[in-house]
Amino acid sequence: MFPPLDPSSTMPQPFSQELQLALQAVRDASAICQSVQAEISPESLEKNDKSPVTIADFASQAAVCRAIGDAFPNDPIIAEEDSRFLRDPENEGFLTKVQDAVSSRLGACDAEQVCSWVDRGGASEYSSRFWTLDPIDGTKGFLRKEQYAVSLALIVDGQIQLGVLGCPNLPITANGKGDGGSLFSAVRGHGGEVRALEPADAAPQPVRASDTSNSAAARLCESVESGHSSHSDSARIASMLGITNDPVRLDSQAKYAVVARGEADIYLRLPTRKDYRERIWDHAGGVILVEEAGGRVTDVDGKPLEFTHGRALESNRGVIVANANLHAKVLSVVQEVLGSVESDA
Ligand code: AMP
Ligand code: MG
Repeated sequence: MFPPLDPSSTMPQPFSQELQLALQAVRDASAICQSVQAEISPESLEKNDKSPVTIADFASQAAVCRAIGDAFPNDPIIAEEDSRFLRDPENEGFLTKVQDAVSSRLGACDAEQVCSWVDRGGASEYSSRFWTLDPIDGTKGFLRKEQYAVSLALIVDGQIQLGVLGCPNLPITANGKGDGGSLFSAVRGHGGEVRALEPADAAPQPVRASDTSNSAAARLCESVESGHSSHSDSARIASMLGITNDPVRLDSQAKYAVVARGEADIYLRLPTRKDYRERIWDHAGGVILVEEAGGRVTDVDGKPLEFTHGRALESNRGVIVANANLHAKVLSVVQEVLGSVESDA
């Protein structure tokens, strides 16, 4: 159905059909998000109006789940949203806007189709082969017109095998600005890549994490939201690592992307609440990208993230991402600080 990734290569590329499908689905979803985001006015920003992200979120999920369900009808999808909100007659206006957003990219569709595509993402239990999707990761970044991501991953026998991350506001070149955004992908054992989101035939380039082992010079990134990752704990950790530069704060799995392409060396996600469990769709796409780029990902206890418990990372706390030469040192400082912190985390 799909051409091989690189016809000149003799190495068989595993999951090549899944990869081509995931790249196009995330490209479509990202384009939908970009056109909805373009409509955000300064007035709606001022009024803290969340409707643009609601519309783009459902439309993105509909687009991706439509593509997966058509090509792989037996694959469950664990995605963030379901159609209950859209099916409420009070929200008919939203449903029409979601339908318009989907059909402007993918062709005419009706409201019932949109709801049924969204509901293809309704799996919640672990299974031996499933996809996980965050249709818009970093909703606050989307509304601020800063970083957000469409994140899709395929998990087989508990291992992430494929990840695709659309980052519409992350320039394709490290210092570029205002280009059409970046599309990252990784297949287990085959490295990480980035290409321009558009056009569809844009050439992929390999991505590599940095290799510095000098922690004092490391560039550290974290969430904008202090409710998602403790800024005070990370400041203590940075200081113990000898880092004097301020952390770079950005929303979404764009943080995994910047570590994967060596623009940052460390991404810390430090628990703010004892009972919070990370959602699998907030991590799966980013984790495989960093690992395939040569970086390392664990939780704050040094354990690998376990994608075998349904919707949440039930047996993990927090996330520590770093290049392979820094990860052990960062982890030991994280443990020293968290072990001594008087907090409910
Ligand atoms: P970020 O953009 O990195 O700040 O992460 C956004 C994600 O944080 C959202 O998709 C939420 O699922 C997730 N989130 C919500 N509450 C928390 C929390 N208390 N700790 C960590 N992540 C959270
Ligand atoms: Mg998210």
